[in-house]
Amino acid sequence: MDAKQIIARDNKYYLHVYARYPVVMSHGEGPYVYDSGGKKYLDFLAGIAVNVVGHAHPGLVGAIAEQASRLIHCSNLYYTAEQAELAESLAKLSGLDRVFITNSGAEANEGAIKLARKYAKTLGRDRVQIISAEQGFHGRTLATVTATAQPKYQHGFEPLPQGFSYVPFNDLMALRQAVSGQTCAIMLEPIQGEGGINIPDDGYLAGVREICDTSGALLILDEIQSGMGRTGKMFASQHYGVKPDIMTVAKGLAGGVPIGAFMATEKVAGVFQPGDHGSTFGGNPLACAAANAVLDIIATEGLEANACQMGEYMLSELAGLKAKYPSLITEVRGLGLMIGLKLTRPGKDIVASVMERGALINCTAGDVLRFVPPLIIKRRHVDEMIAILDEVLAAV
Ligand code: PLP
Repeated sequence: MDAKQIIARDNKYYLHVYARYPVVMSHGEGPYVYDSGGKKYLDFLAGIAVNVVGHAHPGLVGAIAEQASRLIHCSNLYYTAEQAELAESLAKLSGLDRVFITNSGAEANEGAIKLARKYAKTLGRDRVQIISAEQGFHGRTLATVTATAQPKYQHGFEPLPQGFSYVPFNDLMALRQAVSGQTCAIMLEPIQGEGGINIPDDGYLAGVREICDTSGALLILDEIQSGMGRTGKMFASQHYGVKPDIMTVAKGLAGGVPIGAFMATEKVAGVFQPGDHGSTFGGNPLACAAANAVLDIIATEGLEANACQMGEYMLSELAGLKAKYPSLITEVRGLGLMIGLKLTRPGKDIVASVMERGALINCTAGDVLRFVPPLIIKRRHVDEMIAILDEVLAAV
């Protein structure tokens, strides 16, 4: 079947929820993916911050194959070594105590919301309100899309669950005013991804932590996009010295095998009793073995340090492009390899031109080009990306 036939088949049967490019992806190696016609793309999107160890990393492929040959799945009614290992790793890395493994980011956030509400109830507090930030993104389930303070994702799905309210990101005053005796948790991305790579101001996250401490609200940090080494530390919140009560992760955790997790302090996690939460697939040995391999590769290949160095290099190269094209670029921002380039115009056609020239990026919040490449990239890959962008911007 050629690309045209595959696209026609998919268009006929798959739900029309994605605005797709007319390209069929076939395979990948390192930071490159290839389409069915053999065209090579430098992948600076990485499945939207997922393929942290690149494509077809032998360590990850080997771990998945070995696990698949032994035990792909078993019920959570039984223990597995792979799940226990991953739980210990995530607890130690996050500094939190208990872990629950899910299949996606949205599910991790759903679990975090349920846990926060149960915690308040268990303390006898009549608190259900979750406050989240405008331009944030937390997922597509009903509760997480409600926590996602962007009307475009909510429209048409009303009535939305009750108990959610919103404040502008980076505005401590607004947050202080919004918090009340009803507030059970504040839920934020430390760096907003879908909202346009919005970086917290100095002192913002520490200020949020303080508001939580004084009001008794829990702090839920959504590290689904910013976690797993992407910003140069395992979790973005570690740059700001802020520890949440509940943290959620997903995306890069298993390098592309579907997974998510939430971690919590003992005090909070302890309110969940057998039967309060669960998942058929969540934490299955295949996904856990993949995540264990990814964590191992991040550590042994020094990928946090690499994300930090390559991020600084890329930010400086992009600053060069900003100086060259001041009428097109208004801001370059990011931390590690979570980078946004804000344009003076919509970025959709620029993404398409970049793709034509052999690289993958995307545009978020309408006018921010987003770069979230695999953490294994080298300077030559950054140079290749910059050269393509330079060509595309020159032609705009
Ligand atoms: N939270 C953040 C910060 C995200 O970026 C995303 C996905 O883009 C999600 C939650 C939802 O994750 P998933 O698509 O795995 O449900």
